[in-house]
Amino acid sequence: MAWVLNGVYLVVAVLFILGLKAMSSPRTARRGIAWAGVGMVLATVATLFVPGDRGLAYFEPGKTVNLVLLLVALILGGGVAAWLGRVVKMTDMPQMVAVYNGMGGGAAALIAAVEFTSEQPPTGLHAVLAMLGAFIGSVAFTGSVVAFCKLQGIMKKTFRLPAQNAGNVIHTMVTLLVGVAIVVWGPHWWLLVPFFALALFLGFALTAPIGGADMPVVISLLNAFTGLAVGLEGYVLQNPALIIAGIVVGAAGTLLTQLMAKAMNRPLTNVLFAPITGEAQAGGALEGTLKEVSALDAAAMMRYAENVVIIPGYGMAVAGAQHKVWEMTKLLEAAGVRVSFAIHPVAGRMPGHMNVLLAEAGVPYDQIFDLDEINADFPLTDVALVIGANDVVNPVARTDTSSPIYGMPILDADRARQCIVVKRGRGAGYSGIENALFYADNTSMLYGSAQQVIADVVTAMKELG
Ligand code: NDP
Repeated sequence: MAWVLNGVYLVVAVLFILGLKAMSSPRTARRGIAWAGVGMVLATVATLFVPGDRGLAYFEPGKTVNLVLLLVALILGGGVAAWLGRVVKMTDMPQMVAVYNGMGGGAAALIAAVEFTSEQPPTGLHAVLAMLGAFIGSVAFTGSVVAFCKLQGIMKKTFRLPAQNAGNVIHTMVTLLVGVAIVVWGPHWWLLVPFFALALFLGFALTAPIGGADMPVVISLLNAFTGLAVGLEGYVLQNPALIIAGIVVGAAGTLLTQLMAKAMNRPLTNVLFAPITGEAQAGGALEGTLKEVSALDAAAMMRYAENVVIIPGYGMAVAGAQHKVWEMTKLLEAAGVRVSFAIHPVAGRMPGHMNVLLAEAGVPYDQIFDLDEINADFPLTDVALVIGANDVVNPVARTDTSSPIYGMPILDADRARQCIVVKRGRGAGYSGIENALFYADNTSMLYGSAQQVIADVVTAMKELG
């Protein structure tokens, strides 16, 4: 039996790794998700057949109540996930990831709690790993709940206590000390209760001060934590599938965190200990005025240009304007205008967000360019059309050393001959910072919700012929 199980787990590991690899490109991502899904189903079914008190025991007479509970949990969990997967909007994906992280971290912490309160609690190395998994899993759980509430707008404020950072360090050390006491003196309830309470509160204390633009990075970091916690508990349970899944999630989360932090030019320490709060502002008032343009004028500027670069951002995603944008692109191309798309690595709310939306609308991959590939072209660009993007085109990131986003690489839309910005009003970007681009001499504002505005531009373009 053991070799069959290990064989299945090996297949599961291969499926997870190949699935993750395929997810790295929009062309193969669907296939990757399917492979990883099959791996997950295989791992779940195989785990039911693990011999001993945690596997086949579920089917033993007198213990079948566990089987019922298990099936109820599987049906409930699977059903909710399948439903959420269908209804969730692309722009709400970070919240969804936060929910999954929280579940993973919470499950790892619960596994440890069950182990510590069982008749034969883990000892030695197993106890150390179970304790670490419980600690990291608990932090990931409450941290993810806070992250979800912030992204969903349920929790609007950032809570920052005096000496927050020093407090967090002390809090972490005290929690780990109680954890060490559990390992040394055994899992007494008077140690377990404060340990879990402290670890759960630490997740809140670490995440509550972080707001605005840093939140997706935090979610990715919590994802890495969850992976680590699951991997550790997998070792405690001696379950290879859990170990592998945990390592894969942990590594992927770590890489994604690094990628985002690099794209924002914000070291992870700044994200955690010097967060951008919504109240942050660029130094000094911005000079210039906001100049409004009509859909017809915007259509004419682009229709008679030689080349146009479109910069999509979060606003395009919220408005679901990508299909209209592609329709407009085809009209421009039919009129002989060269159109390219410039994607900032953190445009939207997760890496690849814009690529996926544009691909869904039918934009060919060879028309979509990364920041490094296209930035040098802006001085030769007739019109840069910014659709619902803000922070990723804010020139203060280049010029204002006092700005919290100083140093973040941006798309140089301000260097194009003309820039048109589509947005609904004067709202600041995700980081809460005003945008100097909007006040520049060569920038015109085209106000309205992106889908409606681009539909108006399309109509106007058709009239222009
Ligand atoms: P921003 O969130 O900075 O700005 C979006 C803009 O869209 C707003 O100014 C808003 O202005 C406008 N908008 C909102 N709804 C609509 C609508 N229906 N129609 C038209 N416009 C609309 O977007 P960016 O994509 O430029 O920046 C992404 C932010 O997310 C950055 O701060 C980045 O650091 C952060 N981030 C992203 C990560 C990622 O992986 N993608 C990771 C970490 C952080 P108005 O309200 O006036 O309409």
